[in-house]
Amino acid sequence: MTSSPVEKEVNAFMKGLVRRNPGEEEFHQAVREVAESLMPFLLEHRQYYDANILERMTEPDRVVIFRVCWEDDQGCIRTNRAWRVQFNNSIGPYKGGMRFHPNVTLSVLKFLGFEQCFKNSLTQLPMGGGKGGANFNPKGKSDREIMRFCQSLMIELHRHIGEDTDVPAGDIGVGAREISYMFGQYKRLENRFVGVLTGKGLSFGGSLVRTEATGYGVVYFMQNMLAARGEQIAGKTAVVSGSGNVALYCIEKLNHFGAKVVSASDSGGTVYDPGGIDTDKLAWLKQLKEARRGRISEYAEHFGVEYREGRPPWSIPCDLAFPCATQNELNGEDALALVGNGVMAVAEGANMPTDRDGIHHLTEAGVTFAPGKATNAGGVAVSGLEQSQNALRIAWSADEVDRRLQEIMKSIHDQCVRFGDDGSGRVNYIDGANIGGFVKVADAMMAYGVV
Ligand code: NDP
Repeated sequence: MTSSPVEKEVNAFMKGLVRRNPGEEEFHQAVREVAESLMPFLLEHRQYYDANILERMTEPDRVVIFRVCWEDDQGCIRTNRAWRVQFNNSIGPYKGGMRFHPNVTLSVLKFLGFEQCFKNSLTQLPMGGGKGGANFNPKGKSDREIMRFCQSLMIELHRHIGEDTDVPAGDIGVGAREISYMFGQYKRLENRFVGVLTGKGLSFGGSLVRTEATGYGVVYFMQNMLAARGEQIAGKTAVVSGSGNVALYCIEKLNHFGAKVVSASDSGGTVYDPGGIDTDKLAWLKQLKEARRGRISEYAEHFGVEYREGRPPWSIPCDLAFPCATQNELNGEDALALVGNGVMAVAEGANMPTDRDGIHHLTEAGVTFAPGKATNAGGVAVSGLEQSQNALRIAWSADEVDRRLQEIMKSIHDQCVRFGDDGSGRVNYIDGANIGGFVKVADAMMAYGVV
């Protein structure tokens, strides 16, 4: 079979990228998805193609790699590796979360940092893209151990970040507790109280609604997608994966909008609750996950519902699906199961949770599909609002922040429609998000000349 000019361009581009970044599979996957959807646009808008903007955008500005030594409760010295990937600051200071998880590698952080550039651009706020983290497993660690790890990490990281340079936030394994320990150490080392991290506690510069923002934002995006099809969330059955920050507040907002959420999961398995995770059960689940750091299997035991050990939730019948746990958690087989059960729309809460095959099967079947870089941008958007509040030394009310969040999610949806409407009457949200996110960053890079 002969390949089209677009395919030839993508393959040549990817060959170079893989050669320059050997073994970085997640990074290759994220770039390929963007290259495939951007290439027709680049070939039509030669100024970007001729300036080699895509190649320049796939090379991070810099990567800092460092050792983090800390002492556990038994007095043993432990060593981890940490990274900060400062990807692109063309439209604002680097901005993106820190992830603490044993499977963190440079490849994972480069894929996340690359996606973050597009996501931050879509919010229309002045934020560049970055990401960081450590191959540290917070599970089973005491509070004191977490504190010592965060403090040790910040002894190096503080040199590379700043309110006008790079502003980290949370991600998997990094919530309010870790941000607080890191901020406390930064403040001590630098003797400055500035908005250098977001996701802070409310009494020291945090923003209302930051905790809820990513999960709520995903649901606001779904609301906009369904409205564009003359549909609504009320009355729909939803399947959610994960039970962390994004998943819990995605479930909460779905309940507010009158949907029935029948699943939640963690790395151990899935609970299937056909009656729905209503407000009372969600309060119990939050207590389990946020306060006690327990396992999802305990929900099944407590409420007497089915527990599917080691399995994701995608075979459960639903109208709407929200993958909110981690990358590549929804594959081709899972997508076929969702399609077979009549799923109508999928909005990604996590970053790159649907793999290439999964996306292919969903879109082939006409399922409305929106990628994480558009749908989960609510978290970083409210982080951007936290930075604004810190700079102005004011605090907006929850209603004010929520109103702005809803406006931002609507504007991201509008950009996806603008750049992703292929004239067939359907919106390609992948193209819309990639092109919409690309243009602003690319225009800034072109304006700076060859730098
Ligand atoms: P949390 O650490 O709060 O929760 C992660 C959830 O995913 C947990 O339920 C965890 O289960 C589950 N999980 C993690 N790894 C796996 C795995 N390999 N297989 C199955 N389940 C797994 O993270 P967040 O909710 O903050 O983040 C979730 C996703 O959303 C990530 O992709 C993140 O990058 C993305 N995101 C987060 C934002 C935020 O504001 N927090 C913003 C934008 C995107 P367990 O506890 O068993 O590990």
